[in-house]
Amino acid sequence: MTTVASNLQNVKDRIVRVAQSIGRQPNEITLLAASKTNPADALREAWVAGQTIFGENYLQEALAKMPALADLPIEWHFIGPIQSNKTRRIAENFAWVHSVDRAKVADRLSKDRSESLPPLQVCLQVNVSGEDSKSGVEPEELAALAAHVVNLPHRRLRGLMAVPELTTATALQRSQFHLLRELYEQLKRDGYELDTLSMGMSEDMDIALAEGATMVRVGTAIFGPRRYLIPEEIAALAAR
Ligand SMILES: *Cc1c(COP(=O)(O)O)cnc(C)c1O
Repeated sequence: MTTVASNLQNVKDRIVRVAQSIGRQPNEITLLAASKTNPADALREAWVAGQTIFGENYLQEALAKMPALADLPIEWHFIGPIQSNKTRRIAENFAWVHSVDRAKVADRLSKDRSESLPPLQVCLQVNVSGEDSKSGVEPEELAALAAHVVNLPHRRLRGLMAVPELTTATALQRSQFHLLRELYEQLKRDGYELDTLSMGMSEDMDIALAEGATMVRVGTAIFGPRRYLIPEEIAALAAR
């Protein structure tokens, strides 16, 4: 077994263990492999080991890797910050986008999604930590954004996503996951048909699952520590 395959198995076992310990069904939890900075070969190893959903943060990097994996029917999710001049290639190449946080980006993604493709699956990213540096719609502005996005063509609103503050204070982290859960439940009470609460990463997925995550985005625990590419390397990959 490769390292990636055994790491993947460990993550799946962990999801089952945590789910069982809190009385949830493991099969209601989807594992997204967050593959940024990892080469196409590593994604292929994870695919061979049974992983079908991959999340990428950087458009250039993702587009550089996709041709090498074109023989695999991977479900690609875009999970990184979105610049509005990148929406066309995101809408063309990804099945899901987790990081929609403003109406302008939502409009452009919707317009740029070809009618020949299935509707784009959308999660709204919420800034649950209140940090200025973080992407995400402010919680107070979420209802308006959801009302806007739900009426756009060629997309389906699936749920919410957040990246909480990087901290070892588990109580603080938990409160931020809890806030996202409450916002999600409120939208459902308001009549939105949502099924995706995208939260939890390698270090905090147990807490996220306890707070109701339906999709965890796990990178390091599957692929090992990241080796960040410098921009020149990304450009070289894209040019190949
Ligand atoms: C990198 C990343 C992840 C995965 O993080 P790990 O700590 O490596 O598991 C999840 N979500 C987003 C948005 C990311 O950028």
